[in-house]
Parts: sequence; C-alpha cells; structure tokens
Amino acid sequence: MSPDQLAAARATLEAARRRLTDDLSEPPETPSQMTYGSQAAAASEVFAQQRDLALRDKSGKGLELVDAALARLDRGTFGTCLRCGRAIPDERLEVLPWAAFCVRCQQLEKDGR
Ligand SMILES: [Zn+2]
Repeated sequence: MSPDQLAAARATLEAARRRLTDDLSEPPETPSQMTYGSQAAAASEVFAQQRDLALRDKSGKGLELVDAALARLDRGTFGTCLRCGRAIPDERLEVLPWAAFCVRCQQLEKDGR
C-alpha cells in the first residue's frame, strides 16, 4: 500500500475505534425492579438485556480487531495475512482495514479449518 493508502486506512481505523469505544461506554440497560405484573413484560425485559449484551460483545470484538490492525500499522506489518503471510489486496483493505486475513484464509477461519 502507498503511504497515502496507509494514512487513509489509519484514519478509518481511528474513526471506527472512536465509534466502538462510544458504543462500549454507554451504560448497559439495567433491569428495573422486578414487578409481579405481566410475565410478558418481564420476558421482553430479559430479551432486551440479552440483546444489549450481544451488541456489547460484538463491539468488544470489533474493537479488538481495530486495535490489532492499528498495532500492525505501527509495526509495519499492516496488510499481511496473519495466516498465509501473503499481502491482503488493497481493495479489501480499503473496505475492511481491520481485515487480518486474505479472503481465502478468512473463509478457512470461518469454516474452522
Ligand atoms: Zn491468507
């Protein structure tokens, strides 16, 4: 990647990092006092909590990916597939600057191979 492309990737990563950090710093939905009223209301509250936790988990994983990519930028290994060691195509990095694998290895990782 050219220095301009690397700078653009860094800018995208830093913007994503700010967004994810904001997501994570929002206080979680706290369960309100349990009432002996409607079962349905209680069930939907549990659902809302679980959804909130799931989103939080996703943001946490996203942040890990973004931080790891920023670390690779600092070390000068940005854009190298962590699995096969080949260069990740620029087009892929422009869309997904936090990608740690080339398309082929990403698929293999997803399949658990
Ligand atoms: Zn690869």
